Order: sequence, then C-alpha cells, then structure tokens
Amino acid sequence: MSVITDDVNRSLMTDGNSVAGLLYDLFAREMTAEPTECAACGREGEIGTLLAFTRAPGVVLRCPACDNAMLRVVRTASHTYIDARGAAYLRIAR
Ligand SMILES: [Zn+2]
Repeated sequence: MSVITDDVNRSLMTDGNSVAGLLYDLFAREMTAEPTECAACGREGEIGTLLAFTRAPGVVLRCPACDNAMLRVVRTASHTYIDARGAAYLRIAR
C-alpha cells in the first residue's frame, strides 16, 4: 500500500478500547487490559492498545507496530467466528 492509503486506513481505525463491549460479550470479562503478543513481530501489549477497524462486516484488531491482523471477529445471526491466528497468545486472568 502507498503512504496515502496507509494514512487513510489508519484514520479509519480506533484503539482496542472502542470494542471493549464486544470483547466483554465474547469473553464475559473486561479484556482491554489483558496482554497479547503479535505473532508477526512479537510486540506485546494490552488488547486495548491494538488498532481496531470496525468498518467491515466484522471487527479486526491490528498490531500498532506492524499492522498484522491479530484478531478478527465476525458475528452472523446464529454464530460468532473468532480468528486469533495473528496473535501468539491472548492471556486472560483467571
Ligand atoms: Zn506486530
């Protein structure tokens, strides 16, 4: 992508805190302060620091360091799909 395209895409993103309600629905707990690691670059940080793209059929959370799609969530009328292949881990406190 070009620098202009990258800037436009970044301007459409918010941080992971903007999807706190969705994450709470999925995991039945507050998730934005939970740590995660990017499977592509190894960046570690709280889920709330990821870049959230919500203007799609689902939600995509991207690494702020390398733009890797770490978590994808799509909800249909009957199911929720969670693709976390872009994350080395999501750690959830017990
Ligand atoms: Zn990364």
